[in-house]
Amino acid sequence: MHKLQVHQFPCLQDNYGYLVHDSVHNLTAAIDTPEIGPLNAALQQQGWHLTHIFNTHHHFDHAGGNLALKDQWHCTIVGSRTDAERIPGIDVTVGDGDSFDFGEHRVDVFDVSGHTLGHIAFYFPDDHVLFSGDALFALGCGRLFEGTAAQMWSSLQKLLPLPDETLVYCAHEYTQSNARFALSVEPQNADLQARARAIDQLRAAGKPTVPSLLGLEKATNPFLRPMSGDLQRTIGLVDADWVEVFARTRQLKDSF
Ligand code: ZN
Ligand code: FE
Repeated sequence: MHKLQVHQFPCLQDNYGYLVHDSVHNLTAAIDTPEIGPLNAALQQQGWHLTHIFNTHHHFDHAGGNLALKDQWHCTIVGSRTDAERIPGIDVTVGDGDSFDFGEHRVDVFDVSGHTLGHIAFYFPDDHVLFSGDALFALGCGRLFEGTAAQMWSSLQKLLPLPDETLVYCAHEYTQSNARFALSVEPQNADLQARARAIDQLRAAGKPTVPSLLGLEKATNPFLRPMSGDLQRTIGLVDADWVEVFARTRQLKDSF
């Protein structure tokens, strides 16, 4: 088994573009298409040809480059079955619980709706690599534009059983401001305090905070921690249902 190669590059204001490469079959997939220029530059730099696009959701900073890239590379576009009409140029539809092969690598699909309806995440189980789009961020989660808090909470719960060593590649560099919010709702969390300091150092050095380890997200991301007594006390919902705690946390973040 050859390791999946992941190449990460900044796009637009604060997006990350990703290329994943299977060297045995010479396949390369772009995870979303935030910006064509940097994406093509990354392909050229790696010496890879674009064979696939895996879309997490329909937003322009994720699928906006689809048609131009398909024109240029004749690549196959994979996206959500339940949101096919909003994914430009879609060829192959997938849904929750589906698996497919990308060369030597298996890809598991999770529906993680909430930010949008039909938002999906791509998990490479042999490599412990997760592309979470705008569903799960480092220390955050996506804004609820189309779904409900209950839906987003059940979406995020699908990711919790994945191994702690899973690398979470989210679509935006929002981590530093996410950390400030996280500290405001869970001030006593020592792991979070340490992580916030590490994030400040990375950003001061101009380095990305993504990917992050799922185990660290479980320990520090307030949107995965409605069971935390510290969080519940801070937001005034001691012993409330987890979904209620999650919903209130999301609400507070919207106006932070
Ligand atoms: Zn989005
Ligand atoms: Fe986005």
